[in-house]
Parts: sequence; structure tokens; C-alpha cells
Amino acid sequence: MIVDRLRRPLGSLRVSVTDRCNLRCRYCMPEQEYTWLPKQSILTFEEITRLVRVFTSLGVEKVRLTGGEPLLRHDLPTLTAMLARIPGIRDLAMTTNGLLLAKHAESLRTAGLERVTVSLDTLRPERMRHLARTDRHADVLAGIAATRRAGFTRLKLNTVVIRGVNDDELVDLVEFGRAHDAEVRFIEYMDVGGATGWTAEQVVSQREMLDTLTRHYGTITAVAERDPAAPAERFRLPDGATFGIVASTTAPFCRSCDRSRLTADGTWFLCLYAQRGTDLREPLRTGATDTQLAELISSTWQGRTDRGAEERLGVSGRGALYPVTALRADPHREMHTRGG
Ligand code: SF4
Repeated sequence: MIVDRLRRPLGSLRVSVTDRCNLRCRYCMPEQEYTWLPKQSILTFEEITRLVRVFTSLGVEKVRLTGGEPLLRHDLPTLTAMLARIPGIRDLAMTTNGLLLAKHAESLRTAGLERVTVSLDTLRPERMRHLARTDRHADVLAGIAATRRAGFTRLKLNTVVIRGVNDDELVDLVEFGRAHDAEVRFIEYMDVGGATGWTAEQVVSQREMLDTLTRHYGTITAVAERDPAAPAERFRLPDGATFGIVASTTAPFCRSCDRSRLTADGTWFLCLYAQRGTDLREPLRTGATDTQLAELISSTWQGRTDRGAEERLGVSGRGALYPVTALRADPHREMHTRGG
């Protein structure tokens, strides 16, 4: 296992398989136009698998497929099966917006995918139309139902909570999770990547969420057994149901962050907020051996000092991280490119 300058291990890798998405969520892709990664730069399944194999040789045990929307990548079950055969992976998961999940859940499960997280920001179709510019709320619900039929367990639902948009649905979402045997994770609205409309006033803090849920349910207790590197803090309701909160804006967890991100074009980012990444595609395509790739990855990780969200806490008059012009100049700055 290798560790960075703050003694954090390289434990988890988020692999973005495409920068494309079929939603336009206001906290991630609110603009009308985007600059996409060039097609020829997108890693093949063989290239992704080779890189993931090198990462696992250095201690990565958790791999999560992301996008954009990962199910827009043609034939994703084939990649899933290739990754599932890598012996070092202890947890192979995917985060999806759920629109195409009903069609693919079974083949993904057969291919070896172990866990699925579905983004579900609202239970109200008309609200989703406003929030994500789509009429396909029912497809997301069908996708969630399909994960059960396909045999997935430990389903998670991610909800980005925005004041004045969906902060009145916390109880409804907890109840939806309970009814569907899924755990909801409320995520504080972040100022990262394409969140060009972000303002501090729209952030609903972990404290506020807990107050709201306590008023409804009564005493809420923190769940003690927590993976120190897990982004969500988990809580238990008086009747035993659990939910999580990712307090990435008001109480960031950079000190225990073991995550890095590989974009669809092979750029490796050490932090969601990092200005620049390391190009792994070029050495991969110009003949680097696995040993050379491992050396590049391990020396880069060993120099890591990133604590992006913690550093943002100290910024006065905090607004969106990037203006639109900066995002257009380098699409790697977008959250949908670096895998959320
Ligand atoms: S801001 Fe960066 S260092 Fe902090 S938790 Fe997120 S990815 Fe990790």
C-alpha cells in the first residue's frame, strides 16, 4: 500500500467511462453547450482494464464506474466483466442517474457488478423537469426497481440537497428508501466543477438536515461503525432505519480521503478540486510498461497534499469554483468529466 504526504492510502478509484450525460442537472451541467473530450482520446476497455490492474497492484481495492452517465458508454457490461476478473478489486460499484438502468441492470449484475448507487434528487416528476431538464422520472424509478430484480443488494440513493429546490423532501426520500430497501445519502450542494450557479445560501448543511429529520422522527443517533474513508456519515432513526449525509461542503473529510479519479481520456485527478491531472493515456499509448505506469502512479500519489474541500472552507465570499469560460477552456474542470 502506498500513502500520500498526509498518510492517506491509495484505496479507491473512480473510473469515468464517458463525459456525456443524458441529464442536465443544475448542480452539475446547467449550461446549454459543452466542450466534449475528443473521441480519439477516450480510453478503450482494454486500456481502462490495464490501468485499473496497475492501480490495484498499488493497493486500490474499491473501483466505481462513473461518468457523465456511465450507461451511455456502449456495452458497459463487457467492461464490467473485464474489471470483475481483476483479483485485487474488493468492491466494484457504479453510480448512475438511473435512466437506462432498467435495461442494463441484469446484464451488469451477471457481468459481476456488485453495487449500484442511483442519483435521485426528487420524488416529484415536475420538479425533476426543472432540476434536470427531463421528463423521464419514471425511468429512474423503473431502474431502481430493476436493481432489486437483478439481485443487487445494498442499493444507495444519492440526493443533492439544494435550498428552495428539494429541501422539503428529506422525510419523503427517507421513506422512499425504506420502502425500496435502499439507503438514502443526502449530499450537500458543492461549489465544484460545473456548478456555476452555486451560492452559499443554497447549501443545506448537515446540521440543518439532521434538525429537520429530528423534528419529524425524534432522536437520531450516529452509526458508530464507519469506514474512515467513506464520504458519508451514517445515522439511525429511532425505528432503526438508516440514512447517510455527505457533508462535503460544511464538514469536509479530506483528512481521510483515499479517492482519486480517472477521466474517460485517461487523465488522473488526485482531488475533485484539483486544477490539473496527470496524463496516463500518453504513456499508456506510447509503450510504457506496467512497471513504469506503476512508478508514475505511485510517485504522483506519494506527493499528494490535496485537501480541496477543506481549503475552500477558508475562502471568503465563496462562489462557484470556475466561471463558464474557464470550464469551456478545459473540460477536465467539469464534474461530469472527472466523475463527480
Ligand atoms: S475535496 Fe479532494 S481531498 Fe477532499 S475529500 Fe474531496 S477529493 Fe478528497
